[in-house]
Amino acid sequence: MNATNVLEDLKRRFPNEPEYHQAVEEVLSTIEEEYNKHPEFDKVNLIERLCIPDRVYQFRVTWVDDQGNVRTNMGYRVQHNNAIGPYKGGIRFHASVNLGILKFLAFEQTFKNSLTTLPMGGGKGGSDFSPRGKSNAEVMRFCQAFMLELWRHIGPETDVPAGDIGVGGREVGYMFGMYKKLSHEFTGTLTGKGIEFGGSLIRPEATGYGNIYFLQEMLKTRGLDLKGKVCLISGSGNVAQYTAEKVIELGGKVVTMSDSDGYIYDPDGIDREKLDYIMELKNLYRGRIREYAEKYGCKYVAGAKPWGEKADIALPSATQNELNGDHARQLVANGVIAVSEGANMPSTPEAIRVFQEAKILYAPGKAANAGGVSVSGLEMTQNSIKLGWSKEEVDERLKSIMKNIHEACVKYGTEADGYINYVKGANVAGFMKVAKAMMAQGIV
Ligand code: NDP
Repeated sequence: MNATNVLEDLKRRFPNEPEYHQAVEEVLSTIEEEYNKHPEFDKVNLIERLCIPDRVYQFRVTWVDDQGNVRTNMGYRVQHNNAIGPYKGGIRFHASVNLGILKFLAFEQTFKNSLTTLPMGGGKGGSDFSPRGKSNAEVMRFCQAFMLELWRHIGPETDVPAGDIGVGGREVGYMFGMYKKLSHEFTGTLTGKGIEFGGSLIRPEATGYGNIYFLQEMLKTRGLDLKGKVCLISGSGNVAQYTAEKVIELGGKVVTMSDSDGYIYDPDGIDREKLDYIMELKNLYRGRIREYAEKYGCKYVAGAKPWGEKADIALPSATQNELNGDHARQLVANGVIAVSEGANMPSTPEAIRVFQEAKILYAPGKAANAGGVSVSGLEMTQNSIKLGWSKEEVDERLKSIMKNIHEACVKYGTEADGYINYVKGANVAGFMKVAKAMMAQGIV
């Protein structure tokens, strides 16, 4: 395989999908060497089959808003690869959603799910519908209209969606209700469900907690821990909230959180009580992070990212490409020791280069945020055996999975000088398992 040629070919065939090209380039450049040790892979053109999704569903979603207007959005489901298990991956509702973004997310998801050690393939879906500013009734009608089309393509052994940006417990609940009605079955086809109807304890917390468990493993390699460390968090949604919760619990200090309008900087630290306020503000009232600064009298910076503030650790937890080369240089100049990604692909390729050249601890999302899908996998298991595990049991399993992912990264990513290249480690480890499964299953 020549990574450059494969990428150029994909760019030519699938133009105008820059995020998809970016995600593929990152993986190909790190697995090329390992891949070429296996000439049997190239004989069956494994790489092209792994880069191009198995199939893509694209559909119209029509719903009626509170004023009686008929509205139309686009809906998608990308089923990327099911070599090691049913397609699995979240659904994103955000105005920016398009096919290229979902293809990048589904591609990444395939390697991430492979890393978790659980039997899950990769997929992703969503819509350019934005829940922001919509009433509960509008969100419900949209979710129902979305599921009216999607339901025929998913199932507990086929494809199991979950949440992502703009899709939390409320939206999963509405989609599950409609799925159940249409399929006339009560199965675990979606994860992230409410605890009363098949959801797993710790699923809401899992991505954020998992990121911090992974960070702890990284810090250990340098004889460090979280106590007293100042952390920058971006975002204030599901991942950001539970990342902050775990940092606070372990004695770290969170000084920033953000939303798409700007960020707050609280030098005294966001403590438990202030975090409760943010959770209420975001999850109940669906307000803006600016309101935190008004309530607690701290700095609010509109239209900016938090990466210019001084800290020990950065935890990007909002969206893709939210941390660029300049931000990375600022973080390094300010003495950051670790960056661990709660979001998917939040750092640009240039930012990643800056972190790796500075030899700081840097964990890509597909390793560090795999806790979310891992507990989704555990939710599938609990649904299958029709039992629910305790909070402690799920949390222990989550910790152990994050530890295993860290070990896999160390195994495949340690370089000659001892620096752990977590990007390479995660990509090679994730790739090898999928590749072996595809080889065993023949050319399909
Ligand atoms: P939420 O919708 O709960 O929160 C997203 C947060 O990011 C909000 O604060 C939102 O601000 C902000 N945000 C979204 N888009 C942008 C943007 N274009 N620019 C700036 N800020 C933005 O989503 P999640 O917390 O679930 O997801 C966050 C990230 O984590 C995503 O990259 C997702 O793919 C990833 N992830 C999520 C998992 C999960 O289990 N939920 C699992 C693994 C990864 P605003 O309110 O203004 O929109």
